[in-house]
Amino acid sequence: MPGSVNRMPLRDEPSAAPDDLDLTAELARDLIRFDTTNYGEGRSNGETDAAEYVSARLTGLGLTPTIYESEPGRTSVIARVPGRDSSRGALVVHGHLDVVPADPENWSVDPFAGTIKDGLLWGRGAVDMKNMDAMMLAALEDILGAGQAPARDLVVAFFADEEAGGVLGSHYLVDNYPELFDGATEAISEVGGYSITLGDKRAYLLQTGEKALIWIKLVARGTAAHGSRLIRDNAVTRLAEAVAVLGRREWPIRLTDTTTQLLAEVARILDVDPQKVGPDELALATGTASGFIQASLRTTSNPTLLKAGYKHNVIPDTAEALIDIRSLPGEEDAVLAEVADLVGPDIEIVVMHRDIGLETEFDGPLIDAIVGTLGRHDPGAPVLPYLLSGGTDNKALSKLGIRGYGFAPLRLPPELDFPAMFHGVDERVPLDALVFGRRVLTDLLSDY
Ligand SMILES: [Zn+2]
Repeated sequence: MPGSVNRMPLRDEPSAAPDDLDLTAELARDLIRFDTTNYGEGRSNGETDAAEYVSARLTGLGLTPTIYESEPGRTSVIARVPGRDSSRGALVVHGHLDVVPADPENWSVDPFAGTIKDGLLWGRGAVDMKNMDAMMLAALEDILGAGQAPARDLVVAFFADEEAGGVLGSHYLVDNYPELFDGATEAISEVGGYSITLGDKRAYLLQTGEKALIWIKLVARGTAAHGSRLIRDNAVTRLAEAVAVLGRREWPIRLTDTTTQLLAEVARILDVDPQKVGPDELALATGTASGFIQASLRTTSNPTLLKAGYKHNVIPDTAEALIDIRSLPGEEDAVLAEVADLVGPDIEIVVMHRDIGLETEFDGPLIDAIVGTLGRHDPGAPVLPYLLSGGTDNKALSKLGIRGYGFAPLRLPPELDFPAMFHGVDERVPLDALVFGRRVLTDLLSDY
C-alpha cells in the first residue's frame, strides 16, 4: 500500500565488531548482511530490514526519519537534518539500499556475509553502494554526536529500487512527496569521488553528468512449426539478426562539455598531446577507469537477456530480447529512431523504461567545496569531472531542479580495479578508504 508509515525498528543493535573496526566498516558490513537484492522487472527481496536499520541509526542521532513504502517491502527512508544556516539551499545526500543479484558460485566469499579479509570489506553492495550509505551515517554521527550541525540543511535519503531505475524509490518519492525535498538545490551520491591512477599520479573523478538510459525489448514474430520443417519465417533467427546488429553497433564518438574537459585534463596529467592522441586512446590511458570513461564517449547498446522457445524440436512463434541502451544526454529520441532503422520494420520495439541524461558544469560553490575538502585530505591530487555511463537517483531529483553530483569519496590503491566491481563479482572496498570517505564527507557537510 503506498503511503508513509512511521515504524519502530525491528532489528537488534548491530553485531559486535572487532575493537579496531571503524564505525563506517561496521555499518557497511551490517547493511551488506541484509540481502536487499533487486532482480528487476518487479522482483525484489525488498529493502525493509535495511531501511529499519538505517532508520534506527538516524533516530539514535536525534533525528526523525520517516519510512516510505511505495509497495509492500519497497522501502525508502528520509530524514531532514537542520543546518546552522537554513537560508542556504538544502543539500540532498542520498544512497540506495538495494543491490543487484549476486551468484555465490562466482564469488570467493559469501556475497551477503560482510566478510572482512585482507584489510577489505567484501560483499554485494561494498562498492554499490552500502559503502556510501555507511559513510553518510558515520559522517552524521561525527557531526551530530559532537553536538555540531551541518553548515546547511541536509535531506538525507536512503532510496529503494535504484537498481531497477528508481521507479519504486526516488521517482516515487519525488512524484508523490516532492515537499520532502523543499528548498533543496543540490545533491551528492554514488559513482564519483573515488580515486584513479593516471600514470603514477592519483586523481579523483567527480561525476557531473549521467548518460540517459533506454531499456527496450525487441519482439520478433514468426510461424510456429515443427523443428524439422523448412521454415524461413523463424522468430528466433529474425531476433538473433536484430540482436547482433545492435550488439555490434559502433556508435560514433561525440564529446560533451564534460568529456572534453576530462580528456583535456587527462592529456595534461599524462603529458600527451590531445591533438595527436585520440579520445579512445586517452580514455584507455586512465587504466581501471577506462571502462567507465570509454562508454561515456558514445552511445552504447548492449543485448542483455534473451527469451525464446520451449522445446528443441518446436519453432516458437515469438522471440524476445532485452537491450540496455545508454545514450548521451539529449540524444535519446535520435538514438531510438536509429535503433528502429537498424532492426528494421519486422521487429517490434517496446520501451520498457527510459530516463533522461544529465550534465552540469564543473563549476560553482559545491564543486569548490568538494575540491577544497579533497585537497586538504589528499593534497595535490587533482579532481576531474566525468560523465557517468550509467545512471543514479540524481535523475529523479533533477525533476525538482536539484543538481546532482556523484561524490562518494574513496582514496583507493592503484591495484584495485574499483570501477569493474560495480555489479561485478567479489565487490570489496578497503577499510581505510571507508575511513577516508567518512572524514571527507564529515568535513564537507560541516563546512559547505
Ligand atoms: Zn548504485
